Amino acid sequence: MTKFDRNHPALATLKERYPLTKESSSKQTWHVTLDMKNIDIEYHPGDSVGILAQNDPVLVDHLIEAMRAKPTDLITHKRTGEKFPLHAFLSRCANLSRITSSFLKLLHECEASLEAKEHMQNLLADKSKLRAFLSENDPLNLLRDYAKSKLPLQELCDQFGPLLPRFYSVASSQYTQKDTLDLTVALFTWMQNNEKRYGIASHFLCHLAEIGKTPIPLYVQPAPHFRLPAAHDTPIIMIGPGTGIAPFRAFMQERQHHGASGKHWLFFGERNRKSDFFYESEWNAHKNLELHTAFSRDQEEKVYVQHKMLENAKELYAWLQDGAHLYVCGDAKIMAKDVDNALHEIILKHGNMSEDEVKSYIKSLKKEGRYRLDVY
Ligand SMILES: Cc1cc2nc3c(=O)[nH]c(=O)nc-3n(C[C@H](O)[C@H](O)[C@H](O)COP(=O)(O)OP(=O)(O)OC[C@H]3O[C@@H](n4cnc5c(N)ncnc54)[C@H](O)[C@@H]3O)c2cc1C
Repeated sequence: MTKFDRNHPALATLKERYPLTKESSSKQTWHVTLDMKNIDIEYHPGDSVGILAQNDPVLVDHLIEAMRAKPTDLITHKRTGEKFPLHAFLSRCANLSRITSSFLKLLHECEASLEAKEHMQNLLADKSKLRAFLSENDPLNLLRDYAKSKLPLQELCDQFGPLLPRFYSVASSQYTQKDTLDLTVALFTWMQNNEKRYGIASHFLCHLAEIGKTPIPLYVQPAPHFRLPAAHDTPIIMIGPGTGIAPFRAFMQERQHHGASGKHWLFFGERNRKSDFFYESEWNAHKNLELHTAFSRDQEEKVYVQHKMLENAKELYAWLQDGAHLYVCGDAKIMAKDVDNALHEIILKHGNMSEDEVKSYIKSLKKEGRYRLDVY
């Protein structure tokens, strides 16, 4: 059992970070190395770490100004009863990228302008309009637009959603890296009223945390459902587009450390080969790794990992028949379903099975722990 948890996190620092994407890329993904020296913590390939990030201090300053408050004003945390100066409360406890409906309700109650009050009333009365409004706005732009007089500070702070931990797959093996832990972090950005906004934890890890200085509170989130096979000669198939690649870097480090004789097959996908081929040289250095890549925007027709699976359907089915374990990590909304459909198609065709037989084949793969997912 790990002794660190959400309420008692370990404090790591940043050792190193660098972009995995080139400047020409349409997005940013970073390699983040945490310094874990003197932290007695155990994790396994497949596990994630929960990171307790802090909000951007510039955003916090803007928000305090928009609240017409002082950074030193004292706030009582409504759940724990702990007292915090406003600046610390907003930095560490509040989700500043999301508005809650109770936040809007409070603004509505305190609003003096009849026109603005009516606008908010209309939003609060219409669930779908409200949902759209809450997802398109954030506390700062709402306060700037509506809070023309000072609001009850404690009550306002009570309406923020809690700043929850964000999870990141461990991208390194403890056998290979004793004192450091690697992550692969995609930076979230979007525009809010012509101002750039960032995802809280990805911004914290990719930009804000200072090397060797900023404490990074974390704990291990074990993933017993996503472990390597116990036998080192078992073949494994890894499907990890985007940041879904992270645990497979740890898998490969671990298998290499054990001198695993089992075969390895990796499917990686991103937008462009030139700018988004994460860890390319590392994959090329592995001797017993078969690699198939799908760069969706390198040609007119979009190509994804499931297309590469289908192109190699016969061999993939043979691997499964040979006892391979298949792992999928990354996007839950679209990718995992497309991969599942491709798997279905492959077994149907090359196993000469009926639909029902395919379903029970996949069911037994899952039951035997040979088809494992870690998707988000
Ligand atoms: C088990 C697990 C493993 C994971 N592993 C990884 C990993 O290895 N690497 C990785 O990069 N991620 C991973 N994730 C995802 C990660 O935990 C975070 O969800 C992700 O980094 C975004 O967090 P954030 O704090 O940066 O963004 P948040 O602040 O949480 O924002 C998240 C989303 O909300 C949108 N958003 C928020 N506010 C607004 C607004 N006002 N207007 C418009 N859009 C808005 C953002 O565009 C974004 O889509 C994993 C998740 C899980 C559950």
